[in-house]
Amino acid sequence: MKKPLIVQKFGGTSVGSIERIQNVAEQVIQAKLAGNRLVVVVSAMSGETNRLVELAKQIDSVPNAREFDVLLSTGEQVSMALLAMALSKLGHHSVSLTGHQAQIQTNNQHNHATISDINPQVIQRYLDDDLIVIVAGFQGVNALGDITTLGRGGSDTTAVTLAGALSADECQIYTDVAGVYTADPRIVVNARCLEKIDFTTMEVMSKKGAKVLHLPCVTYAGENDVPLRVLSSFESGPGTLVKGRDPEPGISGVALQKRLLAISMPLHQKPRIDQQIKLCGIEIDCQIMDGSDYTLIAQPDAIHRAISMLSDTVIEETQVGLVTVVGEITASLISQSQQLLNLAEISVLHFCEDKHSFTLVIDSEAIDKAANVLHDNYIITNITVSREEKLAYLG
Ligand code: ADP
Ligand code: ASP
Ligand code: MG
Repeated sequence: MKKPLIVQKFGGTSVGSIERIQNVAEQVIQAKLAGNRLVVVVSAMSGETNRLVELAKQIDSVPNAREFDVLLSTGEQVSMALLAMALSKLGHHSVSLTGHQAQIQTNNQHNHATISDINPQVIQRYLDDDLIVIVAGFQGVNALGDITTLGRGGSDTTAVTLAGALSADECQIYTDVAGVYTADPRIVVNARCLEKIDFTTMEVMSKKGAKVLHLPCVTYAGENDVPLRVLSSFESGPGTLVKGRDPEPGISGVALQKRLLAISMPLHQKPRIDQQIKLCGIEIDCQIMDGSDYTLIAQPDAIHRAISMLSDTVIEETQVGLVTVVGEITASLISQSQQLLNLAEISVLHFCEDKHSFTLVIDSEAIDKAANVLHDNYIITNITVSREEKLAYLG
C-alpha cells in the first residue's frame, strides 16, 4: 500500500532565517519518519518579496510585468535551495524544483497568473524514488515558457493546486499564527482560533482581507475537495480545518483592509467606467453609488491603473479602510453596526452589502478600533450570551 501523501506549505516568516529553515527541515523530517510522502512548498524568506518590489520600483513605478515576475520569483528559489541543503545536512534526500521544473503551467497574466495545469508525473517520479520534493511557491510558467507569478500570497495556491493534482491526503498550510481566527489576531485582541471553518465563509474572509489564506487557494480547495488545514509552524496544535460549504448560522468573523484608495467619478459615466475596468481586469473591492457620485475602492496599485485610464473623470481621491462583517446579514445588523461605530466615534463613510457579508467604509486610521468593536459585539458577546443561555437551560 502507498504511504499517505502530504503537501506542506511554509510561509515567509516560517522560513524567515537560517534557524527557521533548519526548524522547518526538522518538522518535514518528522512527518517523513511518521510514514508519509512529502511535497513541501516554500515562500520567499519574510521581507524578501517586498525588498524585490522596492528594487523594481526604484527603476520604474510600473515595472515591466514580465521582468517583474522574473525578479519576484527569485525569492522562493532561495528558500527552496536552502531547505534542500538543510535536509541534506540532516541526512535526508530531497530535490528542489522551480515552478517551471515542476511543470506548473499558468495563463499569461503576468503578476496575477492563474494555474491552468500541473503535470503530476514529474513530482510523482521523485516521490517514487523516496525523495522529499520541495517546490517554489508563487510561480509558474506560461505557454511561451516565461516565468509568471500568482499574486501576493500565492504560495498557498501553489500548495493546494499541487495537492489537488497529486490527490494528496492533506494540504497543510504552516504559518505564523495558530490557524484561522475569527479576525486578524494581530489586530483584534479577542480573536479566537477556529477549530473548523467552511469554504464559503473562508472565501469571503480571504476576499475581504484575511490574508492567512490566498483567495484562489480557498476557491480551488473548495471546488476540488482538497483536505485543507492551517497550522502554526512555531508551536504544535491542531490548527484549523477548512471543510464543508455550509456556513454556521449568525456572524462568523470580521475581516479588514487598510490603506485602500477611493476614487469618485460622476455617476452618469458608470457604464463607460465599468466597461474599462472590466477590460483591464482591475480588481475593485467596493463600488458605491451615492447621489450623483460613483465611487470605486481598491488597492492603490489597482486604483493607479484605473486613474491612468479614467483621469478625465476622477473628481476626488482619498485613502480609506474597509471593515467587513462575515456571516448571516440582515438590514438591522447593518444599521446597528453603523450605530455601534458612531458610538465609538468612528464615522462610517459608506457601506456595501454582499451575499455573506457587509462592508463599512471608514477612515483607514480607525480600522483597528472598528474591527475590535464589531468583533467583540457580534462574536464575543454572542458567545457569552449562548453560554449564559446554556447555563440557564441547564438550571
Ligand atoms: P505566510 O507568510 O505564512 O503566508 P501571511 O502573512 O500571508 O503568512 O498570513 C498570516 C497572517 O494573516 C497572520 O500573521 C495574521 O496577521 C493575518 N491574518 C489576517 N486575518 C486573519 C485571520 N482571520 N486568521 C488568522 N490570521 C489572519
Ligand atoms: N513571496 C510571495 C509574497 O510575499 C508569495 C507568498 O509568500 O505566498 O507575496
Ligand atoms: Mg501568505
